[in-house]
Amino acid sequence: MVRQELYRYCAELMDSADIPDSEFDTLCIFQDILGDKMPMIQPNLEVPADKESAILDMVNKRISGMPLQYILGEWEFWGLPLKVGEGVLIPRPDTETLIEDILHIVREKGYKSPKIVDLCSGSGCIAIALKKEIPSADVYAVELSEKALEYLRHNVKLNSADINIIHGDVLSPDLAAEFKGFHIIVSNPPYLTAQDMAELQTEVQKEPEAALFGGDDGLDFYRAMTPIWRNSLENGGCLCYEFGMGQEKDIKLILEENNFVNIKFSRDGGGIIRTVTAEKTEV
Ligand code: GLN
Repeated sequence: MVRQELYRYCAELMDSADIPDSEFDTLCIFQDILGDKMPMIQPNLEVPADKESAILDMVNKRISGMPLQYILGEWEFWGLPLKVGEGVLIPRPDTETLIEDILHIVREKGYKSPKIVDLCSGSGCIAIALKKEIPSADVYAVELSEKALEYLRHNVKLNSADINIIHGDVLSPDLAAEFKGFHIIVSNPPYLTAQDMAELQTEVQKEPEAALFGGDDGLDFYRAMTPIWRNSLENGGCLCYEFGMGQEKDIKLILEENNFVNIKFSRDGGGIIRTVTAEKTEV
């Protein structure tokens, strides 16, 4: 088959299986297998048989509900390539809001070599993007899952980012007690509620539950992490969280109860209130 024919065939296969964005997914699969950024500029090129079967393999995986990002094995965050696959949360564009927030704080506070820790680091997307943007920063990434750690280690190398990787549980007060003097603590912890988990999209069901489920109301990690890690922040330092749609009031309360001030929210690219930054003051 020529590219044009195969493209139509793949998109139609996905359409009939109710896969949204079938053309986008087909294009990404073509780019990956054909090694061509703009494969449809030459619609009449014959697709070699081995490439055709590799493309159809991927299309079938997609039809079975596998997320496109896992099929491709690599996804971009903040313009950086990251290896992803089963066992690690796929970086979302919403999370780039956290990077913007932190760059703003670093500029405003005039931090030259901020000490930053990313809790529940997963693929390492946040820690790596921050290290790339602020090369003089001293960046730590904490992750519990062995599987996610493999991706994190790989991604740190892939992006030549000098990051201190820590295998540990962010909910352990003993772990937090080992760290002092951070200027910024950032986290995109699991925040989906029990109800969200019951209504997960097929694709999201393939992602690790440990990276998604934040307890009945989705707030378990914020409640537990905020008092534990507060002591690791220096006075004037900032805590920056991503959270789920509609959780902002509860998050604000948790931050206030833990004596954080200057609580500010930001919206993601979709207009949803998605992140918070708050400052530690002496009590
Ligand atoms: N943003 C993810 C989702 O909506 C959830 C990730 C998380 O819980 N931190 O599926």
